[in-house]
Amino acid sequence: MARKVRYLRIRGRIWSIENAASWKGLCVHKGGGRTIILNPKEHKTDVDFMDTTIHEVLHAQHPKWTERQVAARANEIAQALWLVGFAR
Ligand SMILES: [Zn+2]
Repeated sequence: MARKVRYLRIRGRIWSIENAASWKGLCVHKGGGRTIILNPKEHKTDVDFMDTTIHEVLHAQHPKWTERQVAARANEIAQALWLVGFAR
């Protein structure tokens, strides 16, 4: 499921996407660096990986949102995409 995309633009800024073995996902924004860390192997299903990806992008888009807000919005979007067939 994971593609080799390493950079994406979020709210006009370039973010890198990296793999890391010890996290399901993480959004790192400090010291001028913008990195979303994702580990597809830590997810049991595609929809779980999709949820984490959306979650970390939401952190990047909305740095002042609480963890609870991010988790709720990510889950809603992941469920919608799953319902229309984007993930198993
Ligand atoms: Zn989070």
